[in-house]
Amino acid sequence: MSGVAVRFWGVRGSIACPDRCVTRYGGNTSCVEVRCGDNLLILDGGSGIRQLGKALLEQQAPIEADVLLTHCHIDHVCGLPFFAPCYLPSSRLRLWAGNLNPPDGLVRALRQMMSDPLFPTSLENFKAHVEFRDFRAGEVLMPRPDVTVRTAALNHPGGSTGYRIEYGAHALAYITDTEHHPGVLDPQVMALAQGVDLMVYDSNYTDEEWPSHIGWGHSTWQQGVRLAVAAQAKQLVIFHHDPDHTDDVLDRVAEEARRLLPNAIVAAEGMILRL
Ligand SMILES: [Zn+2]
Ligand SMILES: [Zn+2]
Repeated sequence: MSGVAVRFWGVRGSIACPDRCVTRYGGNTSCVEVRCGDNLLILDGGSGIRQLGKALLEQQAPIEADVLLTHCHIDHVCGLPFFAPCYLPSSRLRLWAGNLNPPDGLVRALRQMMSDPLFPTSLENFKAHVEFRDFRAGEVLMPRPDVTVRTAALNHPGGSTGYRIEYGAHALAYITDTEHHPGVLDPQVMALAQGVDLMVYDSNYTDEEWPSHIGWGHSTWQQGVRLAVAAQAKQLVIFHHDPDHTDDVLDRVAEEARRLLPNAIVAAEGMILRL
C-alpha cells in the first residue's frame, strides 16, 4: 500500500471562466483526481475532468475509476460528456451521488443534462461500462477494498455530499458546495474533517462578500480556517473559487490565509499534493 496523491484539474465554482486574469489559478470547474495507491478516485466532473480524461488515455491502459459527485449542479457534472474514458468499451466507471433519490436519481439527472434541446448526444452514447450508484449522504462507501469513504449531507440548495476518503493511515476531506451559519461549526463538516491530512473546502466567498450571498449555498475561506483549526486538519485547501476572484484576488487570499493558518493553500489547476 503506497500513499495518496491529489491533483487539481478544476478549482472554480459556478461557471468555467477562461479569462486572462485567472490563468495562474485556472478557470475550469471542480474536478480533483485522487490516487490511493493504484485506485483512482475522481471528485466531481466539472469542466476540469476533460483534461484528466486526456491524461488517462495517454497511459494506454484500461481505465477504472470511481467518480464521487458532490451533487449534480452543472458546474460539477458539465465535464462528464467530455470525459474521453466514457467512450471506451474498456473503461469501467462507477458514478456515485448521495443527494438524489435512489435508485435512479443520478442517471435521470445526467440523462436530463444530455438531452435535446440542451445537448446533441445522449447518455446512451457512452461505450464504457458505467454503473450509477445512488446512495444516501451519511452512508459509508467501500468503492475499493482498501478505500473507505465516509459521507455527510451538506447545506446547499438541492443538497450536496461531503466526502472523507481514508486509505491506510491517510485521510482527506472534500467538502464543497456548503453554506455555513455564522458563529457555528457545522458538525457534519467537523466529522468529515477531523484530523485529516488535507481538507478541501468551499471558499467561494470572503467573509466580507458572504452576507450578500446568503442562501446561495456557499462558504468562505475564513470559515474554512475556523473549521480546519477546530478539526485539527493538517492542511486546508481553499477551493471552489468564485469566477470573479482573479489571480490577484486569490494571491491576497493566500497571503491572508497563511497569516492565520501557515499551512493553508489556495487550490490552483495542476497543483499536486502528496499525503
Ligand atoms: Zn459548485
Ligand atoms: Zn452547487
